Amino acid sequence: MRREIDLSEISDGKTYQSGDLVKADCHGCVGCHACCCNMGNSIILDPMDVDRLTEAVGKDAETLLAETMELHVVDGLILPNLKMSGKENSCVFLNEEGRCSVHAFRPGICRMFPLGRYYEDRSFQYFLQVHECPRKKTKIKVEKWLGIADIKRYEAYITDWHYFLRDLDEALNDYGDEERRQMSLYVLRQFYLTPYPKGMFYETFDKRLEKAKQMFLE
Ligand code: SF4
Ligand code: SF4
Repeated sequence: MRREIDLSEISDGKTYQSGDLVKADCHGCVGCHACCCNMGNSIILDPMDVDRLTEAVGKDAETLLAETMELHVVDGLILPNLKMSGKENSCVFLNEEGRCSVHAFRPGICRMFPLGRYYEDRSFQYFLQVHECPRKKTKIKVEKWLGIADIKRYEAYITDWHYFLRDLDEALNDYGDEERRQMSLYVLRQFYLTPYPKGMFYETFDKRLEKAKQMFLE
């Protein structure tokens, strides 16, 4: 979700790269699951998030989407987000012990919290959201906090996806309502619902991205 933010109001005024130390480590969130509740439709999923969740729960993307996600229009495109439900209005993956049942496969936004991404000049940096997560925190390397293999490859993918959606949103202005709907459905089908061969996420994503760019942005 694109937001115009004033970093000085919500952060410690700094931006971070994956190799930097940041005061984000809340030590396993023991006894707390505040950021897994009442999140509305803000935990928007990227294609890798959905791919990893299909692996975590052993269901295809279509079933997963129906059971655990919602679709919302975000910056002109239909994108999936994690569903909140129950009396605590909590994420569907939060278990009875108040822990994440898909921890090793949790989405990128969950991994980052309380960090966020600040996009600028076709790249991004991380920032610390100082009004989120009330826990006393210690310093940790951003890369370790995220716990994602091959962080540079992952960051390149995140950047490509973000700017593709952004470029597409701008391009949508040149199309009529029905064409926009068809483009949005194409993105949903190609990037989220069509399975990625195991161990070949990035290669497959790159090919799909190239094709989608040729179709809609050139
Ligand atoms: S996926 Fe896990 S970490 Fe993310 S909101 Fe749901 S329960 Fe919390
Ligand atoms: S608010 Fe902080 S301590 Fe609580 S679950 Fe979220 S990240 Fe963990």
